[in-house]
Amino acid sequence: MFCTNCGKKILPNAKYCSHCGSYAKKSSDEFEAQETVDDVTAINNELVYYAKKAANKMMWTGIGWIIGGIVLTLLTGGFLIFWGAPLYGIYAFFKGAYYRANPNGLVKKAMRENSEN
Ligand SMILES: [Zn+2]
Repeated sequence: MFCTNCGKKILPNAKYCSHCGSYAKKSSDEFEAQETVDDVTAINNELVYYAKKAANKMMWTGIGWIIGGIVLTLLTGGFLIFWGAPLYGIYAFFKGAYYRANPNGLVKKAMRENSEN
């Protein structure tokens, strides 16, 4: 819920606002329910935002490994061919691209891994 005085977000059922200290009036049940839906949407949007960021990082990591493998191969004059790095890079890039298009998949995966630990 939100403080009726300063409008900042406060804990549900809080008696006083932790930002301005004013007494937090109880709002109607209907208003509370709507806020809960809004809170869930806000949390989900935030998770999707971080999932997209993580997916972008995966893609850049992939590009880094591809370039790294090519550079290492060129540095040795093709004497040593670093197949592993670009192959891993391609894998990481496509994994990132998949989760970039499907950030909810990464959120669900993180939640699964979290509950297993
Ligand atoms: Zn306040």
